[in-house]
Amino acid sequence: MNIHEHQAKAVLKAFGIPVPRGYPAFSVKEAVAAAEKLGGPVWVVKAQIHAGGRGKGGGVKIAKSLDEVRTIAEAMLGMTLVTHQTGPKGRLVRRLYIEEGANIARELYLSLLVDRETSRVAVVASTEGGMDIEEVAHSTPEKIVTFTIDPATGVFPHHALALSKALNLTGDTAKQARSLLPALYKAFVETDMSLLEINPLIVTGDDKLVVLDAKISFDDNALYRHEDIRALRDETEEDAKEIEASKYDLSYIALEGEIGCMVNGAGLAMATMDIIRLYGAAPANFLDVGGGASKEKVAAAFKIITADPNVKGILVNIFGGIMRCDIIAEGVVEAVREMGLTVPLVVRLEGTNVELGKSIIRDSGLNVIAANDLADGAEKIVKAVRG
Ligand code: GDP
Ligand code: MN
Repeated sequence: MNIHEHQAKAVLKAFGIPVPRGYPAFSVKEAVAAAEKLGGPVWVVKAQIHAGGRGKGGGVKIAKSLDEVRTIAEAMLGMTLVTHQTGPKGRLVRRLYIEEGANIARELYLSLLVDRETSRVAVVASTEGGMDIEEVAHSTPEKIVTFTIDPATGVFPHHALALSKALNLTGDTAKQARSLLPALYKAFVETDMSLLEINPLIVTGDDKLVVLDAKISFDDNALYRHEDIRALRDETEEDAKEIEASKYDLSYIALEGEIGCMVNGAGLAMATMDIIRLYGAAPANFLDVGGGASKEKVAAAFKIITADPNVKGILVNIFGGIMRCDIIAEGVVEAVREMGLTVPLVVRLEGTNVELGKSIIRDSGLNVIAANDLADGAEKIVKAVRG
C-alpha cells in the first residue's frame, strides 16, 4: 500500500524525524488558510498523487505571497498531472500539501528498502539527490552507496559513519545523521514498510538535515496489524478493478493490453501472458484466481474482466489441481448470465473434473471457443480478436 507525501511525513515526524511544517489542503480555501497558519514568507505548494517526478511535471511550485499560493492552488487542484511515473494518462490532483519553504544548500538521496537477496533492510545513499536519481543510477552508479543492516542487531554507530561518508556529511550534520539513521530504521521496521525513499534529504543553509520529500510503501501482508496505517489508504489513487479484486482476495493487476486472462496459479498466469505476447497480442491483466476458489470468487473475477472496456477477448486457462474445472465452469457461466458477453471467449480446461467442467460450458449454450492446450488457446484468442 502506498500513501501520500504528507502522510509519509506525518508518519516520520511521529518517530522524531525532522520534516518541514505543513498542512494538507483539499480546496483553494484550505490551501490559503494553511499558508496563513504557516506564516511564510515562502511556501511550497505540492500536488499529492501516488507518483513521483512531480517537480518536473509542474506539481511542485514555490509561492512568495498568499496571493501566489491561491493562484497556484487554483491551477493545481483538478489538474491532470503527467510525470514519468504516472504514464501518459496522468493523475488527477485532488489534494495539495502546503509547506513552509526550505532553504536548500544540498540535495541528497536516502532510501531504506527490504533487500530480498540478503533478507535485510538495505540503506541506499547518494550525494546526487533531487530530481534525477534514475539518471544517476544509470550513468554514474558508483555515486550510489548501499549497505545492509542485520535485523538481529539493528543499527550500529558504524552504519551512521558509513552513511555520513556516503553523503559527504561532516561536523554537525554527521552528528545529526547518527540519530537520523536509527530513527528511520525504527520507523521502517515498526510500521512494516517495504520502501522508504527520501529524495531529497536536504542540508539546509543553517546545516540542518531535513526530509524534504518522502515516499513510503507498506507491506500489504502486515497491514492487518496497523489499523492506523490502513486508515491512510486513498482508494482514489488505486485502480478500481484492483480494489474490487482485493475484496475477493484475488491477485489482480491491471495492464495495458486487450486480452483479459483468467488463470489459476501465478506461474501459469505468467506463462499465459508470455504466450499471448508470443502470438502478437498483449494481456489486459494479470489474474490468479488461486487454488481453492469458490464459484462466487470465479464469477467475481470474470465480471471484473468483462467490465473492463479495454478487453477485446478473454482467455480462460485453467489447470485444475486443487482447483476443480467444474467450479471454474460454473463461475464463468454465472458471470456471463449476469453480465452478458460481447467479446470472444476461449476456454482451455485441464485437470480435476475436466469432463464435468467442459459439459457445464457446453450445456450452457455459451458461445465459447474450446482450446486443447496453452498454445492453442493463445493462438485462438489472438485470432478471434485480431481477425
Ligand atoms: P518530486 O519531483 O515528485 O520528487 O517532488 P519533490 O518533493 O522531491 O520536489 C521536487 C523538487 O522541488 C525538490 O528536489 C526541490 O529541488 C524542490 N523543492 C521542494 N520543496 C522545496 C522548498 O521548500 N524550497 C525549495 N527551494 N525547493 C523545493
Ligand atoms: Mn522527490
